Amino acid sequence: MSSVLSYVQPTANSPWGTYLSQVDRVIPYLGDLARWAETLKRPKRALIVDVPIEMDDGSIAHFEGYRVQHNLSRGPGKGGVRFHPDVTLEEVMALSAWMTVKTAAVNLPYGGAKGGIRVDPKKLSLKELEKVTRRYTSEIGIIIGPHSDIPAPDVNTNAQIMAWMMDTYSMNVGGTATGVVTGKPLHLGGSLGRVKATGRGVFVTGREAARRLGLDLRGARIAVQGFGNVGSVAAELFAEAGAKIVAVQDHTGTIVNENGLDLAGLVPASRTDGGAVSFKGGDVVDNEAFWEVACDILIPAALEGQITAERAQKTKAKLVLEGANGPTVPSADDILAERGVLVVPDVICNAGGVTVSYFEWVQDFSSFFWDEDEINVRLDRIMMNALNNIWDTADKHKITLRTATYAVACERILMARQERGLYP
Ligand code: GLU
Repeated sequence: MSSVLSYVQPTANSPWGTYLSQVDRVIPYLGDLARWAETLKRPKRALIVDVPIEMDDGSIAHFEGYRVQHNLSRGPGKGGVRFHPDVTLEEVMALSAWMTVKTAAVNLPYGGAKGGIRVDPKKLSLKELEKVTRRYTSEIGIIIGPHSDIPAPDVNTNAQIMAWMMDTYSMNVGGTATGVVTGKPLHLGGSLGRVKATGRGVFVTGREAARRLGLDLRGARIAVQGFGNVGSVAAELFAEAGAKIVAVQDHTGTIVNENGLDLAGLVPASRTDGGAVSFKGGDVVDNEAFWEVACDILIPAALEGQITAERAQKTKAKLVLEGANGPTVPSADDILAERGVLVVPDVICNAGGVTVSYFEWVQDFSSFFWDEDEINVRLDRIMMNALNNIWDTADKHKITLRTATYAVACERILMARQERGLYP
């Protein structure tokens, strides 16, 4: 995989390599706007920061932090912050680019950004976690802000971390700025419905896709990889709609039950140190067996690069709902398409989180807060309309839903680019 940039060396299946090939596939559908396509292959701005803190034992530890603003043509940067020991600049670049596509796909007035710290938060005390968060926020404070770039939760970050980020930024600017981050606690300008929004969006897009495929959710068998905020909420909503959750994989292993796992027991068990496999209502199987489980719907809701070519060959699913960002590598995407497996891509499937983040940001500016029903109804409508529009685009050009989503989104992004024009 050749890179146009000197500072990353993507491979075919690495996150930035995956993103570049997704962009290449949409270029033929962009018409005259293809003239601007190179802009999608270069992040606008990438900041690398050192995050030093004093640990509880008195030693000094340094962590690598990033904030990448991929594209700001349609509005301020928007995207989460991830704390994970494997975070790299290349990964954050891809995640920021997927945010650009995602916000455009659901037509939110944002560009795309993402941040991360290369740290294992499970190895930090609460005090150390707070110090890492505050120092990182202060370091990226030169490029974030309510009108320039608005972080939010992602893998291993939550409302408490957003509260520390909001407080740190506010202290530095000398006034409370709730609109600088979303996913905050409710009494600090957070929004009802935000915690469950990503999982709810996966459900809404999955429900619509199943309806169009003629797949009845009642009795449908679902396998979920990743049982955090996204996977567990989506599982609960599908179970409420009559589906059976037949397999769950988390960082502790894989548990299966062909009659359906009892979520009332599984969800609390998965929150303990023992994780999903500590639940007694299923059989623990080898992790690789997860990909061959007899199921109708597969929900990857963990990290990137999980659906490889080999796993794409094995899956029994008819429908894949990408709760995670970048879970399917390009070669696997081709295999799924050839095998007739429908993939609802990440950039629409998991856009529920950023959609309710947008509602939160709007509520913060107006200091007027909506009730949860209003949020869920608006979320449902935005996700449904976006999916239906993309579906029609896919039908018209005979392309996959992923390429159709990129076609709809990239047209909006590059049209904005063209209308704004180049400065100077
Ligand atoms: N981290 C989430 C995502 O990948 C949400 C981002 C946001 O709310 O800004 O979409």
